[in-house]
Amino acid sequence: MRQSIISIRASSLGELFDCPARWAAKHIDGKTLPSSGAALLGTAVHAGTAVYDSSRLPGGTPVSADDAAGAVVDAIHHPEQEVDWDDDKPQEAERIALALHTRYCMEIAPHQEYAGVELSCERLEIADLGIALTGTTDRVRKTADGHGISDIKTGKTAVGADGVVKTAGHAFQLGVYELLAEHSSGLAITAPAQIIGLSTGKTVASQRSGIGEVNGARQALVGTEDSPGVLQHAARLIQSGDFFGNPRSMLCGEKYCPNFGTCRYRR
Ligand code: SF4
Repeated sequence: MRQSIISIRASSLGELFDCPARWAAKHIDGKTLPSSGAALLGTAVHAGTAVYDSSRLPGGTPVSADDAAGAVVDAIHHPEQEVDWDDDKPQEAERIALALHTRYCMEIAPHQEYAGVELSCERLEIADLGIALTGTTDRVRKTADGHGISDIKTGKTAVGADGVVKTAGHAFQLGVYELLAEHSSGLAITAPAQIIGLSTGKTVASQRSGIGEVNGARQALVGTEDSPGVLQHAARLIQSGDFFGNPRSMLCGEKYCPNFGTCRYRR
């Protein structure tokens, strides 16, 4: 009998291994949570920078950072999903998102040459594993070493006070983006993956930008006969249906897990 194909979003792969029960609640049972103010701030930065970079693709008409900033404001004030602002405020999120948008346009974008922006990648089905990979790759860039993917990450600790971008823990996700980008665009992705970090601090001094590189992001995904890769482990876990919980997860809390109120693994 042919096994059913289950989709895995690139951005959810880390969560599958962090707490399989939380992953299944969201991605199989379809349970949702309101977005957070921090997540919406990230969405807003993605929206504004995408307008700016898209306008600079071949054949486009470049817009200014100020003009592209309209997309930042729209994303904050007209969110597509419910937002739980908690202690955050939309005005504060707008102020920080606009500052980071400008910083990206002035400090990062001039050094990049993009071949694709917000590339919605076709579903990549891996039939023998019973999974399909999906996701949107933030950027495909051209470099002297060929093409590579770039992923924009916002967050309080995205860039340290020493200017170093936090790259640990993102390799699986970047590896999936590489596979998807290659499948979708037909371009060989041979350059290192980039994380473009933007720190969401409240003060100007703590709103930092930077770039970190991750080499060999795909290597851990695809295993060998003797040593299964991350995708094989993910497929086995999903096909087993044994979605155990991890109450020691950093995200085991009502803000992050739709199962929190009823989860038997917390008892
Ligand atoms: S409540 Fe905790 S252990 Fe249970 S599914 Fe959610 S994150 Fe996992």
